[in-house]
Amino acid sequence: MNIIINAEEIRQYIYCKRKVYFRRIMNIKQKKTYLMLKGEKYHEYKNMLDVKYKSYDIIIKDRYFKYKDMAAKIDMIKIKGNELTVVEFKRFLKAGISVRESHIFQCVIGGIVSSYNLNKEFKHIEICGFNGITNFVQVNKHLIDKSRVLVDEIKNMIKNKILPNPTDNESKCNGCEYWRRCYRI
Ligand code: SF4
Repeated sequence: MNIIINAEEIRQYIYCKRKVYFRRIMNIKQKKTYLMLKGEKYHEYKNMLDVKYKSYDIIIKDRYFKYKDMAAKIDMIKIKGNELTVVEFKRFLKAGISVRESHIFQCVIGGIVSSYNLNKEFKHIEICGFNGITNFVQVNKHLIDKSRVLVDEIKNMIKNKILPNPTDNESKCNGCEYWRRCYRI
């Protein structure tokens, strides 16, 4: 069975492993929550941010790429010379709070698949809040290697139909679209 893991699933898996179980194994379609709908609305504003990116040679927006067992829909790719930057837009980022691991690995998967398809070196990540805060992350071998481990973990979970433990952070269950299937049991 050829299992492909997409960047959004990596983000969810880091947030709570069970979410990916419900989505991929139970095949429960995710209903859009209020926050998701709000996020989509903000994404419509992306084109207004063009001025900020004029110093780049190539800008690619909203592109889906696949490479081997990974796939990603990427908000924006910036290319300068041989270097590629993945840009991910988020509705709101808090100042002074470290970048979320789930956001970083979502971008790492996007960077891996786009760099293979575009034949450029994946070097940087920018996570931009529509409230004006941007987090910059330098890509390194540790991030690439860990993303490989995460993809393999998810593939193993899917292949063997393993129900993961609920997230340790119970507050994440508030408003979770899978609550009625999960109940943290
Ligand atoms: S209810 Fe909590 S444990 Fe269950 S899937 Fe949602 S976030 Fe994870």
